[in-house]
Amino acid sequence: MLYWDYAAAAPPYEEVLQTMEQIMKLHYANPSSLHRAGTEAGRLIGRAREVCAGVLSVRPDEIYFTSGATESNNLAIKGAALQYAGRGRHIITTELEHPSVYESCQQLQKMGWEVTFIPPDHTGVMDPARIGAAVRRDTVLVSVMHVNNEIGTVQPLQEIGRIIRKKNPRTLFHVDGVQGFGTLGGIPREFGADLYSLSPHKLRGPRGVGILYVRKGVSLFPLLTGGSHENGLRAGTENVAAIVASAKALRMSSEGRKEFVDRILPLRNRLLRFLEGIPEFTVNSSENGAPHIVHFSYPGMKGEVMARKLEELGMLVSTRSACSSKLSEPSRILLAMGKDAATASGGIRISFGDTHTPEDVAALEQTLIQAVRALKTAEGGMK
Ligand code: PMP
Repeated sequence: MLYWDYAAAAPPYEEVLQTMEQIMKLHYANPSSLHRAGTEAGRLIGRAREVCAGVLSVRPDEIYFTSGATESNNLAIKGAALQYAGRGRHIITTELEHPSVYESCQQLQKMGWEVTFIPPDHTGVMDPARIGAAVRRDTVLVSVMHVNNEIGTVQPLQEIGRIIRKKNPRTLFHVDGVQGFGTLGGIPREFGADLYSLSPHKLRGPRGVGILYVRKGVSLFPLLTGGSHENGLRAGTENVAAIVASAKALRMSSEGRKEFVDRILPLRNRLLRFLEGIPEFTVNSSENGAPHIVHFSYPGMKGEVMARKLEELGMLVSTRSACSSKLSEPSRILLAMGKDAATASGGIRISFGDTHTPEDVAALEQTLIQAVRALKTAEGGMK
């Protein structure tokens, strides 16, 4: 079996596993306890916060740990909307966002906020001018993702950040950096972001921890109450082992980024060219996209059917983002790019990790040919 779903979850680094085990064994005390063991566990979280802050070039007290990027995104969006409702009740986001952003905005819409959802162009890229034009005096927040989790398109965040600031300096800018950080990096200052979400498990860290950068001076309305954890922003006993291991993964992924990208970029480009040569496929990603994601459609063939056939033949892929893959409707992202329903229903996402080799890509290519043949034969047989 070859695993091609790193964008959904990446296998933890060996060092991450060791850290998790060591801390769970040795530092099981509650970090809020006042005794020595508790204080030590609290100190480890403080150190992890410093490591994350160092990697992102921010202050340690601007880093908050959550349960995952889903929570970070919910907290950034609803927390800002609720906190700053007095400034206005208008939010801007894009049609491309991950469900944790998109549905948070829809929820606010139901609660009376006005949300402007901006569509991308036909390649899946946002026009900064279009976002800028939507910013008003009462716009509290703009949320734009760095890299789309389904097709890998990269958004011009620097320009978007600049244009928002120019139009309304009080409007907050949130960036979902989950799919961007591992291959393109990015620090909040570079984008002019006030809020920035990351997910360590996409960076070979553990599941169950999210990171949220909140610029000093920005307040969020807490969504979880019941304790003074995370400086009062997020109540709940901290997962010390996973937090420390997350900081390690963030640092290791940041340090290894260049080598990782240098290795997978030629593999990604080779796969793109191969897919473009298969007449049955429509390629939805491009060389301008993030290096780890390749997305194509087999119009008329449900993505799930193709994914199951590929699995039978030894390749594990996704149809879209893991959080939406159980939905049977066409992909919201591909429809927003103007693709027809057949193309939007027939998507397959392949995502690379640092274990992949040229031989793996060759095997994947052969398997794709085999899968198309098998599916066409089956279709013919049914007629
Ligand atoms: N945003 C993006 C762009 C993602 O790809 C994901 C994971 N599918 C998330 C947010 C949610 O991250 P988590 O799995 O940590 O909740």
